[in-house]
Amino acid sequence: PGRLLVQARVAQVTPEHVLLLAEDLTQARRLEAIRRDFVVNVSHELKTPVGALSLLAETVQDAADDPQAVRRFAGRMQAEATRLSALVHEIIELSRLQATGALEEAEPVEVDEVVAEAVDRARTGADAKRVRVSTGGESGVTVFGDHNLLVTAVRNLLDNAVAYSPAGTQVAVGVRRRGELVEIAVVDEGVGIDPADQERVFERFYRVDPARSRDTGGTGLGLSIVKHVAADHGGDVSVWSQPGRGSTFTLRLPVADSRPPEPPPSDTDT
Ligand code: ADP
Repeated sequence: PGRLLVQARVAQVTPEHVLLLAEDLTQARRLEAIRRDFVVNVSHELKTPVGALSLLAETVQDAADDPQAVRRFAGRMQAEATRLSALVHEIIELSRLQATGALEEAEPVEVDEVVAEAVDRARTGADAKRVRVSTGGESGVTVFGDHNLLVTAVRNLLDNAVAYSPAGTQVAVGVRRRGELVEIAVVDEGVGIDPADQERVFERFYRVDPARSRDTGGTGLGLSIVKHVAADHGGDVSVWSQPGRGSTFTLRLPVADSRPPEPPPSDTDT
């Protein structure tokens, strides 16, 4: 870290002149290390549900003459398979975001529509948990980007807000324009996040409480995806939280009529 890695090439242009080409490999090496880390993490994360599935399959075979037990274990197998499928889906999504780094197709996107679609998709989970979701704030704001990616980002924030909140609480999504930026805030009254963890929750596979995250079907990739989507749109995402009281995740994006999205910063490696 901090050291520059340079690859130099020498070419004789004329008998008197030599051309020296220096290429900075620091970034390339760093990306390579990030990719390697990712593969190691992915393998580790995939082993857990696959191991659980194989153990459950064995148990079902042993319990073949007990229909009730078979049903119970089959249910757990189903839950593991669902988790595995969510994990694979998010891994693919994240590697796609990591590989491209920039938006392939950017067009004007209505923030209202993004929020409405994300709320719609999160609704079933919220209803099942008896968490009320409300929306409010400014309407008619446009950003420049990819509608589907933005829906995924807001939905991830919403799914988390619901997952880490007790029944009977509320989740509010608010849209506010601040100069050249629009803020989409997802506010919950849930378990909250300790200050020490707040900085780390955007890292890949980071979970404050792995057991709880597992219960909620979490993969530890949701916020990492949100961070990438935000960066690819020239924006960012941040968290404010009081443990035991709730959390607010804010997605900040440049408004479309202010300026085109900037290329993503290079440190979106978590
Ligand atoms: P997961 O799939 O585990 O939810 P995320 O990347 O979405 O992964 O979130 C990382 C961790 O951050 C979670 O495991 C959880 O501990 C914490 N977290 C995320 N959102 C919230 C929230 N709204 N309230 C409390 N904790 C949260």
